Amino acid sequence: MSQTLLELQGLVKRYGGLVATDHLSLSVKAGQTHAIIGPNGAGKTTLIQQIAGGLRPNEGTIRFDGQDITVLPMHKRVQRGLARSYQITNIFKSCSVLDNLALAVQARSGSSMRFWRPALSDSAIFDEARELADTVGLSTRVDAIASNLAHGAQRQLEVGLALATRPRMLLLDEPMAGMGHGESLQLVELINRLRGQVTILLIEHDMEAVFQLAECISVLVFGRIIASGNADEIRSNAEVKKAYLGDE
Ligand code: ATP
Repeated sequence: MSQTLLELQGLVKRYGGLVATDHLSLSVKAGQTHAIIGPNGAGKTTLIQQIAGGLRPNEGTIRFDGQDITVLPMHKRVQRGLARSYQITNIFKSCSVLDNLALAVQARSGSSMRFWRPALSDSAIFDEARELADTVGLSTRVDAIASNLAHGAQRQLEVGLALATRPRMLLLDEPMAGMGHGESLQLVELINRLRGQVTILLIEHDMEAVFQLAECISVLVFGRIIASGNADEIRSNAEVKKAYLGDE
């Protein structure tokens, strides 16, 4: 698959005098896992917020599946298949894993006015919620209250909530943040399992995970992409080593 699913052209985002996204252009191919890496303050979160619809760019265009979505509100982007998993957990902490997933499935099945379809039956909702629990590796924890899950399992649940929207593209903003090594490995396995089913745009500081997961890596520094390529190309790029990876 080599069709472009997401295309950013000449994107600019300013906060007063600070240019956080500086005439940035980027293509993400359908089916790929594409990572964006860069130092603190490079503009990664600002970029993902513009793609998700939480921030509007000052200049430039965002096209998803060939359609211009630059000014489309967030919920309409979700309906078109663009889902975001947040850097901060947004699950219902006092509900069980299964109820969290069932609520997300119900929200999707009943919320779309444009693509209206009959709401799912309760049993269909819970069947789908169980499947999602299985996909994200939580099938043995469906009855656990979300607040009792370890940090890593809560992130797995968050990915499940995003998947409940049946996305074509998943935006993952630092999914490994605050995780121990074992938890990161589980999430790497999960993202690997999703490969091919959903296009992934991943922002992540854990270089080991990025080099394992991403077919394409773009390096962001001061709001600009300074290099894009596969793991070997990025590891050996002199400019990237200087700006971000450091000399090994
Ligand atoms: P980190 O890796 O630390 O999360 P980042 O690469 O995600 O950083 P951003 O959070 O997008 O970077 O920030 C990019 C730049 O924009 C930084 O200089 C930051 O201080 C600035 N910035 C971010 N949000 C705002 C805001 N709401 N108002 C003003 N400046 C902001």
